[in-house]
Amino acid sequence: MTSYDDFARTPGGAILMNGSLLRDEIVAGIRAEIDALGNPAVCLATVLVGSDEPSRIYVRAKHKKAAEAGLVSRNIELRETATQGEVEAAVQDLVDDVDVHGILVQLPLPGGLDPEPVIDLIPPEKDVDGLTERSMGRLVRGRPGHVGCTPRGVMALLRRYGVETSGRRAVVIGRSTLVGLPQVLLLGRKGCDTTVTLAHSRTTDLAGVCREADIIVAAAGMARLVTADFVKPGAAVVDVGVSRTESGIVGDVDFAAVQEIAGAITPMPGGTGPMTIASLLENTLDAARLLGAVPA
Ligand code: NAD
Repeated sequence: MTSYDDFARTPGGAILMNGSLLRDEIVAGIRAEIDALGNPAVCLATVLVGSDEPSRIYVRAKHKKAAEAGLVSRNIELRETATQGEVEAAVQDLVDDVDVHGILVQLPLPGGLDPEPVIDLIPPEKDVDGLTERSMGRLVRGRPGHVGCTPRGVMALLRRYGVETSGRRAVVIGRSTLVGLPQVLLLGRKGCDTTVTLAHSRTTDLAGVCREADIIVAAAGMARLVTADFVKPGAAVVDVGVSRTESGIVGDVDFAAVQEIAGAITPMPGGTGPMTIASLLENTLDAARLLGAVPA
């Protein structure tokens, strides 16, 4: 492990919480574990419906990294005009297949399809996206199950880059079931022990609320929402947001200004995006363990 002093820093002196580097470490670790287990076929299956280009890019990236980690992967593609019944049948086949350990349905589905009954088909053991109500329930109850990939990745970044959490104050901006809500639960649970505030679009004086925080996780999807005046000197700032603007892909954090003040910060790109994929692969290996396909 690199020592805290060895971490690369931004021009302003903040530790750069490099998600691409940590992803590579995690991928190599999974590969070593799979090798040590005698190369069992641990399988991630994705379901991609339609031709949405960003979705195709995300799915391709997941399969590439799965292969590097020594996992087997399968992609089920359905055309844009697939019916609700066809999508559900494809997912049910993967649920029934004992050779498949993790299932991920790439969202959003094309207009007219309801994702809820599709997601509901996935049993908690195979729900590597941690999205179903049973997975969320397990997280709340502290029972073994999968945690959403992005919040799990954020926790890994904070741990790896030595960010103190116990007794510290955290603010999560955004309350989605995909990111914000599970993030709040993970930051507040025993072992992490931050005091967490959940901020959202109706929060008054968001900058003031954030200035109280030692850790900010921004997951609002609002380009450069978090400016320098949101940040207490030395705070750790994690950028989850992705906004497509005319000047390209932009995060929720005004990186150039915030890195002057923060103690640690994620780059965008190269922060939470790669960690989301790393966590998906970790969840897939965990799924094989939960299903008894590899030793726990
Ligand atoms: P969402 O749209 O479901 O939720 C956004 C949340 O942000 C809402 O709860 C809303 O109340 C809050 N919000 C919106 N505007 C706000 C404002 N001005 N001030 C305070 N709060 C505000 O989005 P999501 O699915 O949680 O995703 C959030 C962002 O994270 C999106 O940009 C998404 O693309 C990105 N994302 C990134 C990754 C990754 O791997 N980095 C993974 C998932 C999502």
